[in-house]
Amino acid sequence: MDEIESERAEKLVAWLAERTEAPCATCARALCSHELLFAYALGFRTRPVCSACAARELAQADVPGLRQHLRAHFARRSCFSAAWAWSDAREPDCSARSIQPVAVPVSVTRDDGLWVDAEWDAGDLGCGDLVLELRGRLAALAAGEVLELRATDPGAPEDLPAWCAMTGHTLLSAVHPRYRIRRRP
Ligand SMILES: [Zn+2]
Ligand SMILES: [Zn+2]
Repeated sequence: MDEIESERAEKLVAWLAERTEAPCATCARALCSHELLFAYALGFRTRPVCSACAARELAQADVPGLRQHLRAHFARRSCFSAAWAWSDAREPDCSARSIQPVAVPVSVTRDDGLWVDAEWDAGDLGCGDLVLELRGRLAALAAGEVLELRATDPGAPEDLPAWCAMTGHTLLSAVHPRYRIRRRP
């Protein structure tokens, strides 16, 4: 793990440690560290919700599938892997420990590349902050509109396609640091 990633892992663990057992912002169920990590990765850092409530907000019907995709996403990112391992150690009896990583097929749908409804320079925002802000920006668009963003974070090529696949938005192009995303219907 390089220095940036280990620093991120530390911050992530500190964030989890502070909030474990906090209530889901929607259903008030107590959130374990694993559930908090799911919320963080999906863009709910400032309003953590359980994975069932997050799936409902994202119009994803397959909650176990979403958890498996998140687990696979974490396995590919060292900061998330470290935070997941920390959660496992903290909650040895948690059922989340048995979630199998199942990679979500990440696809890029080609478009004509001409039409953009909104642009955003995300700078070097990364991980939870990037997807949090992105979630808000896409929510502000109408269904089918296209957002073009620039994200220089080294994790973006991994994070953004996975996030789009998990949240139902369409990735139109990904040529780091430029990404084009069509808001889901
Ligand atoms: Zn909930
Ligand atoms: Zn747990």
